[in-house]
Amino acid sequence: MLQLHGEGISPGMALGTFWYCPSQEDLLHLYAQRPSQDPQKEFLRFQEACTQAGKDLNTLYERVAQELGEENAQLFEVHRMMLEDTDYLQAIKEAVLQNLTAESAVCAAFRQFSLLFSSMEDPYMQQRAADVKDISLRLLELLSGEKTALPSGDSPFILAAEELTPSQTARLDPAKIAGILTRKGSPLSHGALFARTMGIPAVSGLGEDVGPRQNGTKAFLNGETGEVLLSLSPEQETSLKVCLSRQRHLKNSEKSQASSSQSQIASPIALYANLGSLADLPSVLQAGAQGIGLFRSEFLFLEKPFPPTEEEQFQAYRSVAEAMNGKPVVIRTLDAGGDKPLSYLKSPPESNPALGMRGIRFGFLHEPLLKKQLRALYRASAFGNLSILFPMISNLWEVRKIRELACQVQDELRQEGFPLGTSVKLGIMVETPAAALLSHELAKLSDFFSIGTNDLMQYTLAVDRQDAALEPYRDPHSPAVLELIRITAENAHKNGIPVSICGALASHTSFLPYFLQAKIDALSVPAGDLPLLRQAISALQ
Ligand code: PEP
Ligand code: MG
Repeated sequence: MLQLHGEGISPGMALGTFWYCPSQEDLLHLYAQRPSQDPQKEFLRFQEACTQAGKDLNTLYERVAQELGEENAQLFEVHRMMLEDTDYLQAIKEAVLQNLTAESAVCAAFRQFSLLFSSMEDPYMQQRAADVKDISLRLLELLSGEKTALPSGDSPFILAAEELTPSQTARLDPAKIAGILTRKGSPLSHGALFARTMGIPAVSGLGEDVGPRQNGTKAFLNGETGEVLLSLSPEQETSLKVCLSRQRHLKNSEKSQASSSQSQIASPIALYANLGSLADLPSVLQAGAQGIGLFRSEFLFLEKPFPPTEEEQFQAYRSVAEAMNGKPVVIRTLDAGGDKPLSYLKSPPESNPALGMRGIRFGFLHEPLLKKQLRALYRASAFGNLSILFPMISNLWEVRKIRELACQVQDELRQEGFPLGTSVKLGIMVETPAAALLSHELAKLSDFFSIGTNDLMQYTLAVDRQDAALEPYRDPHSPAVLELIRITAENAHKNGIPVSICGALASHTSFLPYFLQAKIDALSVPAGDLPLLRQAISALQ
């Protein structure tokens, strides 16, 4: 047995079969220089992967052209042409003939061509290095597909990875994943937050000790203490199973005690749940949330390699609005960019993505995408109590522009005969210091505020939320952040609009007295945190 200690980033304990999912970068290392016995067979495998990649790229081209316009789809045409590039194909063929596997031949061609392009002076040609990487990774994933996918079987898995990216997390099936282990990562990274919202226990910061060599063995993790046990013996597994079922029993009775004690008190602060995907809905309903305070709509855009249609979005938003049966549902428009890139919408490389085209800036840059989402949201508003929230606001003009777009979309939909909700509120995330300091003006343009403490802390303290090494500087008690929260709440109330907190700070029960004093109207947290929050509130009364 191997005992490790990392940082607990999503609470709960889990036991399951360990499986390391290689990242794309891992793949390039993993499959370099593997000898083959049968060049002809390898070349055939490569040709089949090429045909499949061509078909996938055509589908992507069509979906992206339809949803985002021809201009954005061009990239996939460039990749498809790369698949026909005689020099690239010849390099792979030669490597296969020199007795490398198809995967290793692709890695060799990738190295050769990316070096060639990146050493050129012309910036346009330098950019082609990124295309070679994309197409080589596409081929590599197709060739090694079976090896990177989770193995079949009912056994719950402990998924291990270099880092949990938002797109990987969006594609997880929570029914199959008992827990997550990562080599790198911080508690405020989007991957970690998605895991929390899905209720999947997770531990990060385990370094190179987790890797493919443990595949298939049994593993245990505790997302609160950060304790991890790998390569368990059958006896250790059995005793941990017993321990886990006792814990679950205890937790369930604590939860029901908490909810019955809570049902007798009127909470001075509304308790909402965060939603990461539709799969979280049952736990939100079971936890008795008073509403959904933050539905991160990103998962719809990250779970597939192409954008969702308006109709797909409408169905998803409608089902959440209907399931909540008249309770408030706050849906945030796509908060992409930064650490949440969309694979099908390549933006020019940014030297500092956290300060780049993310949040509402990404929405304005891809206005047709934002408008399509607004159409889906307004259509769904006829089926419940729906509000729309806009991410990463830092200027007044941004809110004015949002309001204009919202009016345009409503007019269009009315003309097309769609029924719309009568009082859809438009709110903004206060997650930049600029928004907090301008909150007296922003409150006049917004129907509600939602304070995103994860980004507010990042931007106020100048501490990258992704970087685990900066943990000592990431201070939730920072008076600077608390002061910005106080200013925002005061300005919201002066202007008669409600203010909630939807960042991870909302789950810290030690801040409750402060939130109550600042008259925060609602807290929105992962559903699993609601019982504890309720207990803490009733203890204060
Ligand atoms: C936040 O920044 O606090 C927030 C809730 O948004 P996200 O974590 O999705 O960036
Ligand atoms: Mg944020």
